[in-house]
Amino acid sequence: MRIFYDFPPFRPPSEASSYLVRIVRGCNWNKCSFCGMYKSTKFYQRKKEEIIEDINKIKLFFPPSRTAFIGDSNPIIHRDIVEIIRYLKERYPEIERITAYARIKTVANMNDEKLSEIKNAGLKRLHMGLESGCNEVLEDVNKGITAEDAIIAGKKARKFFEFTYYIITGLGGKEKSEMHAKETAEVINKAKPTFVRVRNLTIVENTLMEKTFDRTALLNAEQQLLELKTIVEGIKVETEFLCDHVSNYLFTKDGPIFFGVNGKLPNDKKKILEELEDALNLVRILEKSGEKVLTSNDMRKLGYINL
Ligand code: SF4
Repeated sequence: MRIFYDFPPFRPPSEASSYLVRIVRGCNWNKCSFCGMYKSTKFYQRKKEEIIEDINKIKLFFPPSRTAFIGDSNPIIHRDIVEIIRYLKERYPEIERITAYARIKTVANMNDEKLSEIKNAGLKRLHMGLESGCNEVLEDVNKGITAEDAIIAGKKARKFFEFTYYIITGLGGKEKSEMHAKETAEVINKAKPTFVRVRNLTIVENTLMEKTFDRTALLNAEQQLLELKTIVEGIKVETEFLCDHVSNYLFTKDGPIFFGVNGKLPNDKKKILEELEDALNLVRILEKSGEKVLTSNDMRKLGYINL
């Protein structure tokens, strides 16, 4: 038996205490200009026998858990996905929730029969990167999907799974900020994801964006909050809205002053908008007094946060 366990290098924060099972390595798209996650990983499907071996050893590497996450990016294209999930579920019947990353394009193109098989095997939730509902922005960042794909994928995914759409504030820069925010909210209204999780654009090393994005187009703290506000205002459907990532935080030299906003829409919309208004007022007061409010990009440049 191999001692080695093949850990997926990334998982969503909400899967922090999940068993992690790597069934593909890397990303089969790997072209989004902002993403450096799998740049040095060649994509391939791991052999079923090795995956089964990892599953058998899970309790040697993880504390007991009732949730499991399947990696890396887009594992639902693995030729043995149904069998692997079924085995995981049978081996550890106490697992209540199995989740996976998935590409919107893949889900949009997958037939209902296959999605239903994957669901019946035990997969419960998909984590999908929408990033923007604006076609211009999606094209700028080479996401390889359109807003229409995201609506189709959302409608399909909803029939079988819970699903998250991740979105990125600042992805359209200053110029496309409003269009990006409004069109993203529109796609959310049509796709109706169970969760919307927000990340703020943070330029990372070794990405195409690091070389090509004009840093003067990055949103400042006030613009980041205004964009977030436009998105929340635009969402009319039921969804859980979460800023569960440090990239949403705003800081002064003394520490964080804003931790993002969270709540169930539409019920918590008023509360969220009030929180954003309070944060906007605070930022304006601080900046007026000469105190610079730092975004995730400033903090990363200073070496205080690592994403
Ligand atoms: S954002 Fe997702 S789809 Fe795009 S390159 Fe990164 S892992 Fe692949």
